[in-house]
Amino acid sequence: MTHAILVYHRIVEGAAERFHDVTVTAFEQHLDRLLALGARRETPYGPLRLGDGRGLFISFDDATDDHALAGRLLERRGLTGLFLVPAGRLGEPGRLTPAQVSGLAAAGHVIGAHGLSHERFDRMAPTDLDRELSQPRAILSGLTGREIDWLAPPGGLCPPGLADRVAAHGYRFVRTMRWGLAGADLSGLLPALPVTSRTTPDGFSRLLAGKGMIRLARAKDMVKSVMGETLWDALRERWRR
Ligand SMILES: [Zn+2]
Repeated sequence: MTHAILVYHRIVEGAAERFHDVTVTAFEQHLDRLLALGARRETPYGPLRLGDGRGLFISFDDATDDHALAGRLLERRGLTGLFLVPAGRLGEPGRLTPAQVSGLAAAGHVIGAHGLSHERFDRMAPTDLDRELSQPRAILSGLTGREIDWLAPPGGLCPPGLADRVAAHGYRFVRTMRWGLAGADLSGLLPALPVTSRTTPDGFSRLLAGKGMIRLARAKDMVKSVMGETLWDALRERWRR
């Protein structure tokens, strides 16, 4: 059975300001839709399970401070999230504090790494990249009392050979921003399903079903080819602040 790995960024009160913002109202609708599809906890720290047997992860990038509320909204429904945290940026204005990350872990959520500095991995010297991989595991296992199995490269940017390097550091799962459903064994660089300010309730259901993805991916490629790789990169940098 495949796995659907949803990707959220900020969960905002009021209106969405950035492309990746999802409002609290929309987020709660998504969670209730997931419950209607039979989403439930199965094993601690493992994937949630949908009624059709597929695995499900609800992931959050960047450790913005609104993720404390996201955690509570999940807990209220008996669900858990996968919080991917730039470990060197905790406690900055607008980000979760180390204590909040410990709290999320204690409530049963899974904590993973989203780099140390949140700098992109694909333009980094190998020694810097090793630090970006090793330090988050040390910091986050200190905060959670658990091994850190998950990594999401900032911006989803994966330099060649990343999978092997990451495995050597002890990570087991690597979530990217490539659109798609992940395989049964969760090996390799895992595709995901990004949820954005543009995701309508219908769009959310389609996304989850793996439909509409090809269309979205095509649209993305088209925008990329029209505006050019450099501008696309700059835009992406802004989205992922
Ligand atoms: Zn990020």
